[in-house]
Amino acid sequence: MGVKKAANIAARSLVHGKPHHAQWLITRKCNYRCLGCNVWKEQDENELSTDEIKHGMDILKEAGIMELVLSGGDPLLREDIGEIIDYATKRFVTTVYDNGSMAAKKIDLLRNVDFVALSIDSLDEKKQDFIKNVPGAWKNAMKTVETLQKEGIKVSVTPTISQINLYEIPDITNHFTDRGIPVWYCLYSYDMTADSDQLFRIGKPNDEFIITDKEAMVKLCDTLMEMKKTNKRILMTDRLLKTLKSLYAEEKRTWDCKALQSFLVVDHLGRVAGCHNRTFASLIFDLPKSWKSKKFNDLREQYKTCTQCTYLCYVFYSIYGSPSGHISLAMEQWRNASLLLKKN
Ligand code: SF4
Ligand code: SF4
Repeated sequence: MGVKKAANIAARSLVHGKPHHAQWLITRKCNYRCLGCNVWKEQDENELSTDEIKHGMDILKEAGIMELVLSGGDPLLREDIGEIIDYATKRFVTTVYDNGSMAAKKIDLLRNVDFVALSIDSLDEKKQDFIKNVPGAWKNAMKTVETLQKEGIKVSVTPTISQINLYEIPDITNHFTDRGIPVWYCLYSYDMTADSDQLFRIGKPNDEFIITDKEAMVKLCDTLMEMKKTNKRILMTDRLLKTLKSLYAEEKRTWDCKALQSFLVVDHLGRVAGCHNRTFASLIFDLPKSWKSKKFNDLREQYKTCTQCTYLCYVFYSIYGSPSGHISLAMEQWRNASLLLKKN
């Protein structure tokens, strides 16, 4: 990321009353079969065209979005992904998710991406293959990280914290950060069907993943906060770790959800919702009109008190979705920007 783009993004993060983060699930195609996911079971051949996605990105930029996550499915399975990435990286801090199977095959398309995020949940080959439900998933992902790093592409690793890898998280973190690779986390959560006609389903309940050792989770938050003091490649903020700690230590949600305020999601058909658990509120092409509508305001009020999920990215953009949060986020953006400005 160049200095100009970093400055522009930091300035945009200070503007209040606009959404800052969008996750766009640009395809439902996926070649993996993860145990904690529904997407691969509910495939849909239909998706927006390249031009429609570009038009949608213009609308998102105009709406205030500064960070765009391209996910799916596996977004790299779209044939036009190079064109989409090229357009996105000129406008947003852009993260592209990959399950570890595709990025090494698309190196040249990924050179300008701010982060390629690979989901690696374990250092144990068998465990990773079990979670992803695909033989060879671990080898693919580890090789991909190595290849991307060698090629100078900004790769980050995003383990999903669940009961199955809870005790391994510090080791996973050290393994990658010692090699110069930043780590961010997801938190295993599942859809509690907030709306019966929710936009799309991602997570399904799986007993093996639900965090039952809450004490260990609290300890993990403390450990990561301690590690962060000397390890700048842990991208999770202290504020988010403290929020997570309260959730597990006191079962206290210390945030109001900011779905459809500071963040939104878009699906492969261009439908916009506050989060993927909610029914679609608008088509992306109608967003300029809908954003200030009564319907959107009513939905925001409803979501504010919702307690139906703990997906970490939604928590993150909720706790940073206030004027003071924007300032902290801008500072975080600068820190991340300076990290990004350095070569891996
Ligand atoms: S979690 Fe991602 S990689 Fe795994 S099946 Fe779902 S969409 Fe595919
Ligand atoms: S808490 Fe927020 S992000 Fe989670 S289901 Fe409710 S509205 Fe969606």
